[in-house]
Amino acid sequence: LSEKLQNVFKNLRSKGRLTEADVKIALKEVKLALLEADVSFKVVKQFIKNVQERAIGQDVMNGLNPGQMVIKIVNEELVNLMGSETTEIALKPGNEITVIMMAGLQGAGKTTTTAKIAAKLKSKGRKPLLAACDVYRPAAIRQLEINGEKVGVEVFSMGDKQNPVDIAKAAIEHARNNGYNVVILDTAGRLHVDESMMEELENIKAAVDVYQTILVVDAMTGQDAVNVADTFNQKVGIDGVILTKLDGDTRGGAALSIKATCGKPILYVGMGEKLSDLEQFYPDRMASRILGMGDVMSLIEKAQANIDEEKARSMEQKLKKAQLGFDDYLESMNQMKNMGGMRKLLEMLPGMGGGQLKQIEDAMDEKKMAQIEAMILSMTPKERANPDLLNPSRKKRIAAGAGVDISEVNKLVKQFEQSRKMMKQMGGMMNSKSAKRGKF
Ligand code: GDP
Ligand code: MG
Repeated sequence: LSEKLQNVFKNLRSKGRLTEADVKIALKEVKLALLEADVSFKVVKQFIKNVQERAIGQDVMNGLNPGQMVIKIVNEELVNLMGSETTEIALKPGNEITVIMMAGLQGAGKTTTTAKIAAKLKSKGRKPLLAACDVYRPAAIRQLEINGEKVGVEVFSMGDKQNPVDIAKAAIEHARNNGYNVVILDTAGRLHVDESMMEELENIKAAVDVYQTILVVDAMTGQDAVNVADTFNQKVGIDGVILTKLDGDTRGGAALSIKATCGKPILYVGMGEKLSDLEQFYPDRMASRILGMGDVMSLIEKAQANIDEEKARSMEQKLKKAQLGFDDYLESMNQMKNMGGMRKLLEMLPGMGGGQLKQIEDAMDEKKMAQIEAMILSMTPKERANPDLLNPSRKKRIAAGAGVDISEVNKLVKQFEQSRKMMKQMGGMMNSKSAKRGKF
């Protein structure tokens, strides 16, 4: 798909504003990407419609082509939709007991996540107690006890003969008497959304003061995530969502579907079976994961750092002729600085080897860059344009002017010669590409 998208970019030429045609072409690919990521069809349709309305007529940013501009808008909208900042589970202040109820289908990861959250809260100085309210699934209580032990958190249980409401009540009583300030209720799930499961959760909610209801959803649920989230939210009411099993190869479209459908924040993501594998949810990371085009996204980021196209073009001309002088060196150095790490961009160019990358990285050390700048500024315009003029006495003068040892000037000249050679290669590469594409 990534390749397809790049074709779209290639075929669109830079122009002032996004036309309806630009937007439609790019959004067609985005639509496919979202469906491939298992975002629900309904959500995709609405999302595409919104982006289309926003995008048509917008100015195309300097350094981006229309296709990339659309993707940039798509990305922003995805991030906005999934919540533009990270969120935490809300807790009651001070030592008041916060009751958290876990909800979700069987196998979603409730029991595992219960222990993960407990560990997190414990590390923040809270005193959590776990309550085993799943009395149906064989070995569910034992599973919670084992998990509780692993994270050093007590598990309250009354066996499988009591009903979950009574267990919840008793657990809270136990918490009150023993200095716990968070009670997490691990509840039962069913294979599918069903009445009795909802009723049980409603009953617990009616009987005890549940402060947060957290829906646990398997990220691999795919299209069905919307129904699950919607039903739980309408019947029981949820305050936040935890998406589990994101360590798998799912693109995680469920995150978008859920957020778009019920509007509740995604609090954490489960990244593995280990009880430490619970991570903060980052909407921006999720957006690029769902779009499945990390490379394209970072290219766009680089372009945003605003490489001046004109300068790049004249540089290209010089590259072709290998007429580079120190002024150009300074120029490209500053561009690299603005781009904050040229490495990623270079990695995307075909034919860049590790050795060459290392050289460039070495040359980009901040302090060294300042020194190089001082040396180049100590050269006369003629010397900058024609590095071959630099004889020993000129080098000595430059060293004095920049306040460095003459060996530094020698190093710079040598480095410059090397990069001139390398850029000549790159120039050749660009040449052959330009010939094929008819455009740099
Ligand atoms: P419950 O039925 O909702 O309580 O689900 P469980 O907590 O028993 O989890 C079901 C299975 O999913 C178990 O094998 C867990 O180890 C596994 N699991 C839970 N969360 C994650 C996760 O984030 N990543 C992976 N890979 N497995 C998970
Ligand atoms: Mg369970």
